[in-house]
This record gives sequence, C-alpha cells and structure tokens, in this order.
Amino acid sequence: MALETASLKLLADALRTLDAGFAELPPFVPEFPGNAHMAGVLAEAAERLHDNFPYFHPLYAGQMLKPPHPVARAAYALATWINPNNHALDGGRASSAMEKEAVAQIAAMFGLPTHLGHLTGGGTMANLEALWVAGQLYPGKKILASAQSHYTHERISGVLKLPFSKVATDDHGRMDMVALEALAAQGDIGCVVATLGTTGVGAIDPLPEILSLREGYGFRVHVDSAYGGYFTLAGNLSPHARAAFDSISQADSIVIDPHKHGLQPYGCGCVLFRDPAAGALYRHDSPYTYFSSNDLHLGEISLECSRAGASAVALWSTQRLLPLVEGGEFAAGLEASRRAALEMARRLEADPRFVVPFPPELDIVVWAPREGSEMSQRIFDEAARLGLHLALIRLPVTFFAGRLQSDSEYILCLRSVLMKPEHETWVDAIFERLNQTP
Ligand SMILES: *Cc1c(COP(=O)(O)O)cnc(C)c1O
Repeated sequence: MALETASLKLLADALRTLDAGFAELPPFVPEFPGNAHMAGVLAEAAERLHDNFPYFHPLYAGQMLKPPHPVARAAYALATWINPNNHALDGGRASSAMEKEAVAQIAAMFGLPTHLGHLTGGGTMANLEALWVAGQLYPGKKILASAQSHYTHERISGVLKLPFSKVATDDHGRMDMVALEALAAQGDIGCVVATLGTTGVGAIDPLPEILSLREGYGFRVHVDSAYGGYFTLAGNLSPHARAAFDSISQADSIVIDPHKHGLQPYGCGCVLFRDPAAGALYRHDSPYTYFSSNDLHLGEISLECSRAGASAVALWSTQRLLPLVEGGEFAAGLEASRRAALEMARRLEADPRFVVPFPPELDIVVWAPREGSEMSQRIFDEAARLGLHLALIRLPVTFFAGRLQSDSEYILCLRSVLMKPEHETWVDAIFERLNQTP
C-alpha cells in the first residue's frame, strides 16, 4: 500500500463528533440521486487517476508538488459535510473565525506588527489582490518584477491595465539592484515585486536593498513568497536568504501559498497587507449578504466572493497540529528539504557530467549537462523510464558565468524540487537512477 489511509478512521470519528452537535434537529437523512451507482463511478475515477505521476513518492522529484498532510485532508473532508462558504458569516461563521486565526498565525510567522489578510484560491489570486491594491493607491503607475519572477505578475498587470517592466537579474537569478535603480530613477513606479523563492530556481531577491530604495522613491514593495515564504522558519538558510526573510515584515504586502509548502490541498493561497487600511479599498454594497453580524465578513475584504470554508478548516487544523514556529516539527521538514537540495547539488557538482550554476537557496536544484540542452531532454526522459521524475527548465546561459559554452541565449537544464522531507534519505536512490541515464 503506497497511500495513507489511517486518517480515514480518524475522519469517521470526527464526523461522529460533528454529527453530535446537531442532535437536537428533527431526524432527517438527505437523499442523493444515483447513490446506487456511486461505487462503480468512484472505482472508475480511481482508475482514471492512475494516469498521474506518483507525486507523493520521493522518486517524484520534479515540479512543485507536495502531498497535503493527512490532517489537512481529513479536516477538509470533515468540513465539506457542512460545506461552509467563507464569503459571509451567514455561510461560514466557525470557518471564518478559523480563517482569521490561521491567517493571523501566518502574519505572526512573518513578524507583521499589524495585518489585514485572507485566504484565496491560490497564489495567482493572492498576487492579483496585492497588485490591485497597489494600482488603487498608485493609479497608472508601473509594476516592476524580476526577469525570473512568476509570469503571473506581467499577466496580472495586463488584467489591471497597469504598465509593467521586467528587471534584469544577476547570475544567481536575483533581482539586479543596478538595473532596479536605473528603472526607479525613470520615475512613476507604483510597486516593486520582490520574489522570495523564484518558482524556477528558488532565488531570493535582495529585499533589504529593495526596501532601502523604497525610502527614496516611495514605491510599494510587494513580496511574492508564494513558494518560499515558509522557509522563514528554517534554521539553515544562507545569510543572504536569512536577511531577506528577516526584513519581510517591512513589505507593504506579502503572498504565501499554503498549497505549496504549507501541507494543504490545492485551492489555498494567502495575501497579507501590512496596513489594515487597505481593507477600505474593497468596500462594496452587496444587497444580499452581510446581515447576520456586524463583525467583519471576509467577503468584505476579498475580491473573490464564494471561497471554501473547508480550506480554512484544513489550514487551521494543520497549524494547530504543527505550529508555525522556528525549531518546531514543521520547520524541521523544511530544513530537511533544504539539506536534501544542498546534498544533491554537492553530488552534481562533483560529477564531471554536470555543471551546477549556483548552490540552492531553498530546496530547488538546477543543473546542466556539459553536453548541452539535448542531453537534458535525454536524461529527463530516461530517468522517467527508471521511475525518477525530474523537471526541465530553460535558463539564461549567463547563469553559468563562462562555465558552459552555448551559441544560444538559453540552455535547457534539469531541475528538481525536493519538497518532501523524505527526499533527504532518498538522495542515494535518486543518484542510483541518475547514474543509469546516458
Ligand atoms: C506558484 C507561484 C505563483 C502562482 O501561484 P498559484 O498558487 O500557482 O496560483 C506565483 N508566484 C510564485 C513565486 C509562485 O511560486
């Protein structure tokens, strides 16, 4: 058995506890059409799901995919028997309170002195809200993000009709401060997006320097740490990364994805604003919601209307089990992932077949075969046949600072995201397979 099922019994127990709370209702068992054929349909769905890579297994070391914690899975399922909607308190009183608590814990993890925030469908929506607020406060002014930032920032800026420019990076994939200052000097910058943990290589933009530049130019600083945010709890970061995470609380807005490193099923992003006054920008008049209470309804500070209360219940339960503290069990998992990446990079660096452009900043390793782009594709294909699933990424040749020759501007590289703590003990098994590739 490869799949975790022990939590099913705990879910059944929790459902009985939930049910007991409604004991005073007149007896009623809902009827659903099609019940008689459910088993067959579920078996068919399970068969269909075989056509996926085994993301939960340590030999899946490709893209950013991490299994949710069983407590998140069980708590999410538990909540769906109620199916609360965290738009208005009428639809999700308990789950809205749990969302506010869970989000406050994330804000505390970043050391925010004050905050306004909520969960979103994912990092894209969370970033959209942050850039929307920037656009509301600085209408028509430009958004800047690094050439290695997530493509979503350029696209979101387009949706918001805000001008956008890319800032060049250095050979570690970090925002280049000389390039940023040159752009800032041209004026009309509304917001600089600092990525703490780029999606491609896990690079950390120099946030302390970007914040210093804010003093002079007055733009907003938005931190996109959709991927990397939780690493602020890790005790084994480089001094560069540590300094960036330590200054995160001075940013104007922050995005983090609990559905990436926060052990949640998909559908859980989070946006935080340092100044709660951002909430005023969301003001709207809904003729049909917000009647049950004068307390804050999350729909009053969110661009999305209906949102899964189950996501909040899952996140709250996970953080209750594994608090977001330095030195805790959750932090230990991130530290193990980072050690796995450092060990993998060390072995690749020692292998004459490969070049590693820079050591990993988080838990993402990128490397290039000396033989070039075509060899990356061959290794990727052959490794998959051996049961080892890697990823590919196109990187600028400049990242290899003369250590690789190429006629083109970009080189196809191999990429491995070692998100599972178990990866630390699977580096041997990964290399066994890598050594059997061409
Ligand atoms: C994943 C990611 C996003 C997009 O988030 P989704 O949850 O996929 O919508 C944005 N920025 C960064 C840095 C990311 O890693």
